[in-house]
Amino acid sequence: MNREETLVKNVQTVQAALSAACHKSGRNPQEITLLAVTKYAQDQDVLTLLQKGLIKHVGESRVQQAQARWTSPVFASFHTVKHFIGHLQKNKAAKAAQLFDFIDSLDDLQTAQTLAKAVPAGKTLRVLVQVKLTDKQTQSGLPLEEARRLAAQLKNLPGLKVCGYMAIAPQGAPQEQLRQLFRTVKQAFDADFSPTEERYLSLGMSEDFETAVEEGSSLPRIGSKLFAENLEGL
Ligand SMILES: *Cc1c(COP(=O)(O)O)cnc(C)c1O
Repeated sequence: MNREETLVKNVQTVQAALSAACHKSGRNPQEITLLAVTKYAQDQDVLTLLQKGLIKHVGESRVQQAQARWTSPVFASFHTVKHFIGHLQKNKAAKAAQLFDFIDSLDDLQTAQTLAKAVPAGKTLRVLVQVKLTDKQTQSGLPLEEARRLAAQLKNLPGLKVCGYMAIAPQGAPQEQLRQLFRTVKQAFDADFSPTEERYLSLGMSEDFETAVEEGSSLPRIGSKLFAENLEGL
């Protein structure tokens, strides 16, 4: 298989797994948006999938690097929805407000205020509040109840539209614990965001997206399963 065939097969494998997770949990696959995490991917690989129309939502975790890529003419010529998924430093917020369509990893009010001030006129920057699912100091995000308070505060900020929660599962957590954590976030999401509004619940990465989708994720973030050389053994 050449590289192009490998990439296409990776997308098909992920799509099939998403469909299976939907089938298993009685969900409509139309509710799921695949967020292709392109942060570690080669330019040529990302272009291949864009040219084939196989990805539309893309995720980056470094503002500088994302700006270099997505403002270059060839990348800018594709209609993409750009998500910031990393830790946003306050001094990069203004730049991020211009480049991205979504900030999926918001976890403090000051940064939100900086973003709101920098959003270009006529643009609505969609934001998700990041929920922290571990006690680890190094992990970004806010404990669930604080995340919910921040989401409520953001509803009044002009230029921003808060539309859900994002969370990263603790590495190596047993399946049942994972499910329970995802379920807790989903319950808060349902209580705080009405299905009649535009809303997103971003749970799940390459290693746990099937469980996440079974538990209600609508925006799984997938990097290595799409771009890895060879899925065998991943
Ligand atoms: C890198 C990253 C991902 C993608 O991880 P994979 O395991 O490669 O799918 C998803 N979410 C966030 C927040 C990331 O930083």
